[in-house]
Amino acid sequence: MGIKVYNTLTRRKEDFVPLNPPRVLIYVCGITPYAKSHVGHARPSVFWDVVRRYLTYLGYSVTLVQNFTDIDDKIVKKSKETGLPPEEIAETNSRQYLESMRRLNVIPADAYPRATQYIDEIIRITEGLLAKGHAYVSGGDVYFRVMSFPEYGKLSGKDVDQLLPGARVEVSEAKESPLDWALWKAVPDDEPGWDSPWGRGRPGWHIECSAMVTSILGPSIDMHGGGTELVFPHHENEIAQSESFTGVKPYVRYWLHNEMLNLEGEKMSKSLGNVVALDELLSRYPAEGLRIYLLSAHRRKILDFSIELLESSVRGWERLHSTMERCYDFLRTPADTGVSSPDRLQNARQKTRQTFFSAMDDDFNTALALSAVFDLVSALNSALTDDKGRAAGPEARRLFAEAYLDLLEFSGILGILPDVWGGQREASAQVRGAGSKDLIELLVRIRDEARSRKDWGLADEIRRKLQENGVVIQDEPGGARWSIKS
Ligand SMILES: [Zn+2]
Repeated sequence: MGIKVYNTLTRRKEDFVPLNPPRVLIYVCGITPYAKSHVGHARPSVFWDVVRRYLTYLGYSVTLVQNFTDIDDKIVKKSKETGLPPEEIAETNSRQYLESMRRLNVIPADAYPRATQYIDEIIRITEGLLAKGHAYVSGGDVYFRVMSFPEYGKLSGKDVDQLLPGARVEVSEAKESPLDWALWKAVPDDEPGWDSPWGRGRPGWHIECSAMVTSILGPSIDMHGGGTELVFPHHENEIAQSESFTGVKPYVRYWLHNEMLNLEGEKMSKSLGNVVALDELLSRYPAEGLRIYLLSAHRRKILDFSIELLESSVRGWERLHSTMERCYDFLRTPADTGVSSPDRLQNARQKTRQTFFSAMDDDFNTALALSAVFDLVSALNSALTDDKGRAAGPEARRLFAEAYLDLLEFSGILGILPDVWGGQREASAQVRGAGSKDLIELLVRIRDEARSRKDWGLADEIRRKLQENGVVIQDEPGGARWSIKS
């Protein structure tokens, strides 16, 4: 089986084969922090968080880097309008974004580099491109020479000959070709700038990502993400710069792009004024409900934003939450209760497991994976309601415990664990998915019971799941003891 991903570069689904398994290197283009983040920014962040959780679950060792473009025309403009220093604008909005990510249960990236921390690298790469003839100096600016990179257009499928006539509109004396872009641009004295061999200036946007990727992750990475609006020119230019500089191909093995979030049919972007502030949504709705909403469409499909859709996702999360709570209560009751038709629950379990994992393997189809989870929630709910034939005893308990563990497992991968089990956003990363003491104790008890009736399969399963979540079990004569792996 294995994972298949739709790669923008080849325009088809391919088997996902990392360069150096089990390592997986991922870079995701982050925000330009000139204003508060809106719900559209959360879509790629939550998607990549799920990719990371799933790959980790499968045994890969993931390194994920997401940048902040903390110097940019928009930030400079905002600074002129408000009188605030650009660093302050960028820092305030970056912090606000990170706080929203924390509330959204996004596992922090391994690094959140800021473009301004990589000025030396940017200058070094620009010098390298100049030395190899891929760039030229014009006035105080440095431009990338598109004609020096014959594969230009391979990501977006654009043809240089077709691009040229359109680009001529903005023809500039300074550039050899209208398609060339600035790696470094001279700035007026009243704007933020850094000294460079070409005078005082600041980097262009595209070179920033090339510099952060190559200096943090290396010349060739496994996955690169971002919104579809970044395919051209941003990512196209990143490829040209990075492959020209390092000589290593491919710069990125798999390009995965997210479609936009639509606010009532309009493009979700700050420039259009359609802003739904992320922090406000998070203060009004449970983060898990917002995550379910964001994962309810495949990444390559446009996701419409409406309060009704969000509220329906919140209700879905509440259903998951209350079902797990009912199941928890049932499992805690030592009575010999059961279900009249355990087969139905067993079938639902198998079907959900099968659908969930094949959906996740198929280009991370979170929409289908979620619907499979809710099928199991429904089946578990009816099984819990069904009190006609309380005869199945230990066998039924086993089934309920397994269904419960399934929901725990899926919720951990999707990052939507109900708070009552988690407390998890506050808990340490090691106990993700099994953060609460009550839950761990319950599972250990279920495992003890399973062992006493020699159900080694279930006992091992519980031990394995707890271990995955950083809980170590030690069997002792009086029952199992557990501790958190440090
Ligand atoms: Zn970027």
